[in-house]
Amino acid sequence: MKKNVKKCFIAFSLAAFLAVTPSAFASGGGHGGGHGAGAATQAAKSPSETIKAVIEGNNTFKEHAGSRHFDSFQNGQVPNLTVISCADSRVHTHLFGFEPDNNIFIIRNVGNQVKNSEGSVDYGVHHLPTKILLIMGHSSCGAVKAAMGDYSGETSGIKNELDPLMPVISQDDGEGSFKERWAKNVERNVDYQVDYSMKLYHDKVSHGDMVVVGGVYDFNNNYGQGRGSLIITNINGEKAPNKIMQDPVLKELAKGDVVTHVSSLAP
Ligand SMILES: [Zn+2]
Repeated sequence: MKKNVKKCFIAFSLAAFLAVTPSAFASGGGHGGGHGAGAATQAAKSPSETIKAVIEGNNTFKEHAGSRHFDSFQNGQVPNLTVISCADSRVHTHLFGFEPDNNIFIIRNVGNQVKNSEGSVDYGVHHLPTKILLIMGHSSCGAVKAAMGDYSGETSGIKNELDPLMPVISQDDGEGSFKERWAKNVERNVDYQVDYSMKLYHDKVSHGDMVVVGGVYDFNNNYGQGRGSLIITNINGEKAPNKIMQDPVLKELAKGDVVTHVSSLAP
């Protein structure tokens, strides 16, 4: 019962924060880029309806989690994972299922870029410190799409956060449909962020104190493992799926899970 309520709460939260994206970041339509059902169907809320939904939703969580939920971490955090994720409202925080609290130190920005939030990532890696840094891209990333096109009309703030994606987009060979290129560029961005992290945290990785994992949260089933799968595409800079599958960091996973959760679109 408790878990079902939490599940409802999480689903509700995602719906409540589903944002309307401006054209440069639009994740459906244009260039034939829509995936599956495409357009968001949620009716826009007024600001006051939104605040009401936020307070009521959090109260629902608070009531069903119970006060004891906070006992183990009220005096400090001991997360197991630092994640850099896109700010996209469709990207969930269901890693660790329904128990993300005190498990995930999550940093979010457009296009899940280390460079644009380097201090926050440093905090997770050096001060908590977590033994896994997960770079988590996602299907239909609006930031990657925007970087593939003309974003000169965006604000200086947005341009400053898209410019660092240029080395990623420069790897696009232009082959295939826009949708295919977009999906590959999402993965290339993950690879790029892993490489960037490997340089930044070279000592930790080389001493075996941390593993950098790259993955794609795939809600469009680009990897064929079902919507909502987390697909691992890179471990410590290794991109070949057959080699990733041998990595000791995956040893606790069942063989079948390794096979279905390691893949690559952009070798
Ligand atoms: Zn994104």
